[in-house]
Amino acid sequence: MPFCAAFNCTNRLKKGSGITFHRFPKSGSALLKEWLVKMRRDKWIPNKYSTMCSIHFEEVCFDRTGQTTRLREGSIPTIFNFSAHLKEKQKQKNQAESAIENSLQMWTVGQMHRVIGKAATKNF
Ligand SMILES: [Zn+2]
Repeated sequence: MPFCAAFNCTNRLKKGSGITFHRFPKSGSALLKEWLVKMRRDKWIPNKYSTMCSIHFEEVCFDRTGQTTRLREGSIPTIFNFSAHLKEKQKQKNQAESAIENSLQMWTVGQMHRVIGKAATKNF
């Protein structure tokens, strides 16, 4: 049963899932090298049973004109989930977001004081 060789991907061949599995390019080819670099397993050598599932390819890579979904010649997988790396990015993003939130909150409080202050002077 084919399964996906991509890092962090647990997809298996499952009927009705819409996921298709595709063989690796010929060993020693430049295209295979590209695949391995993209999947960050450039020291790894796929065997003839190794497959990659369709979620790692953009839609333009597929030829769906036939009965079976084929990869267009020269297609390179570009969509991977390198979670450790992504998590680090996410953390940085969250920090930046909370910094913005904090300054927004301070700004709002400052505005409120000013509005209240104005209202107070009006009344007196
Ligand atoms: Zn996969």
